[in-house]
Amino acid sequence: MATTDDAFDGLTEHCQECDLDTLHEVSVQLRTESSKAENAAFSREPYRVTECQRCGHRDSQRMNNA
Ligand SMILES: [Zn+2]
Repeated sequence: MATTDDAFDGLTEHCQECDLDTLHEVSVQLRTESSKAENAAFSREPYRVTECQRCGHRDSQRMNNA
C-alpha cells in the first residue's frame, strides 16, 4: 500500500451544505469584476474555488482581501 493523500488534489474542509468536513477539490479562478472593458486587465481577481466532493456544493472566496 503506497497510496498517499498526494494522489488527489483535494483538501478536507468544512462543507456548510453537508455540515461535515468533506473532501473538496480546490482550484483558482480569475474573475473580472469590473464592467468597464478598459479596466478589465487591472481588475481580475483570483478566487479560490472549492467544490465539495460529497454534495457538489461550490464555494468561492476572494484571495485578495485588499
Ligand atoms: Zn458538501
